[in-house]
Amino acid sequence: MSESLIYDKSAPGRRGVRFPEPDVPHYELPEDLLRKDLPLPEVSENEVIRHYTRLSQLNHGVDIGFYPLGSCTMKYNPKVNEEAARLFGFAQLHPLQNIDTVQGAMHLMYQLQEFLKEIGGFAGITLQPAAGAQGELTGVLIIKKYHTHRGDLKRNKILLPDSAHGTNPASSAMSGFQVVEIPSDARGNVDLEALEAECDDTLAGFMLTNPNTLGLFDEHVCQIADLVHNAGGVMYGDGANMNALLGIAKPGDLGIDIMHYNLHKTFSTPHGGGGPGSGPVGVAAHLVDFLPGPVVKREELDDFDNPYYVFRNPKHSIGRMKAFHGQFGMMVRAFTYIMMHGPDGLREVSEYAVLNANYLMHKLKGVYHLPYDRVCMHEFVLEGRWPEIEGIHALDISKRLMDFGFHPPTNYFPLIVREALMIEPTETETRETLDAFADAMLQIAEEAKTDPEMLHGAPHSTPIGRLDEVQAAKNLILCCGLPKDYAG
Ligand SMILES: *Cc1c(COP(=O)(O)O)cnc(C)c1O
Repeated sequence: MSESLIYDKSAPGRRGVRFPEPDVPHYELPEDLLRKDLPLPEVSENEVIRHYTRLSQLNHGVDIGFYPLGSCTMKYNPKVNEEAARLFGFAQLHPLQNIDTVQGAMHLMYQLQEFLKEIGGFAGITLQPAAGAQGELTGVLIIKKYHTHRGDLKRNKILLPDSAHGTNPASSAMSGFQVVEIPSDARGNVDLEALEAECDDTLAGFMLTNPNTLGLFDEHVCQIADLVHNAGGVMYGDGANMNALLGIAKPGDLGIDIMHYNLHKTFSTPHGGGGPGSGPVGVAAHLVDFLPGPVVKREELDDFDNPYYVFRNPKHSIGRMKAFHGQFGMMVRAFTYIMMHGPDGLREVSEYAVLNANYLMHKLKGVYHLPYDRVCMHEFVLEGRWPEIEGIHALDISKRLMDFGFHPPTNYFPLIVREALMIEPTETETRETLDAFADAMLQIAEEAKTDPEMLHGAPHSTPIGRLDEVQAAKNLILCCGLPKDYAG
């Protein structure tokens, strides 16, 4: 397939669409508003379909294959979610409609708020934030407002562990806080002594991810919360790893005061290019008044069977975080996911996510070094290196995995593991897939010894070979064709 065939299909007179007769009166636009030269492509429908279908196959996604990208929870996105989101009454809503006409949508938002309160053990929820990172920003701004509202103005410091996701320090710094990193101990938990030393009257809050990005449940979560609370700080929970806890533990019960969910991770809404994301935030009772507004409230009417919903701004709200009401389509998908599973089903999601991760970890840990050798939660982190083999890096292993049709694990994160390979299988994979992935990893470990060039040159079977990743990121080329030798 040559470049020109893929990218220059336009030919004068070809068309793939016929516009319907207009249902409004014809109107001549002013001449000077119209461009004389508007080079729109002229292509037939089948050419367009082939073009986009082919392009869609050049990328990897959860609908094509295994995607064990640790921390990101790339689970399968059930198609029933899509069906619900496309229902006319949801898909065609306008955010400025009179609320009398959108009571069904508000009922769904209210129910989702209630579900997320119950799942996390929180007293209030905002559905507004557009991603986990924006949920963090929301949470940290709530921490700030909570302290300043009480006139406690010295608190200028947020603590976080050295295993934290980069968005945690970013959200804290963007909110004007000083960020202090707390080391992890030999078991991968937060080092309590180091934490205690920072717990003073300048402490605004602590951001904890639990299970953390090593895939380990912090064994001292309650002590951490006590230390932080006793110093007057607020506990923020990064809920990106909720896939390990559904129906098993509520962060609110463990001392977490504020937490974001990632609907596009835990609750199976599309991720990455399929987005947009959605990052609702839950808070404990003493922080409910600070939530961004508006939130959906149920009016206390006598007629309990016919509830009426309204939008209300919390009393000391930090303000609005997102236009209108957040990513409503994602709320419909997450609501559908929760309804389809029910409480027992959600618990099973986490049980299988944890089981699958431990199954893979045990298949691989003799051959790959496992720096924190404990029962893992829904993911685990290996070293992508062997001291006795020079020149093999996590990146080589990941690139070679692509030849087996697998998306690579997360590389080089968390930062505290050398050549980190962070593997999260999720609950939606069959045992056959897990076995095939383990076999590929074991074969690659063998090749690292016997045929290292096989790894250095990988991937060998993808449309595009090994890229210079720095160049590719710095000099994006978005509009030209595939390499001349591409033979798809
Ligand atoms: C994904 C992730 C985030 C950020 O969430 P986004 O929805 O991608 O903005 C934060 N922390 C952890 C641990 C994550 O895995």
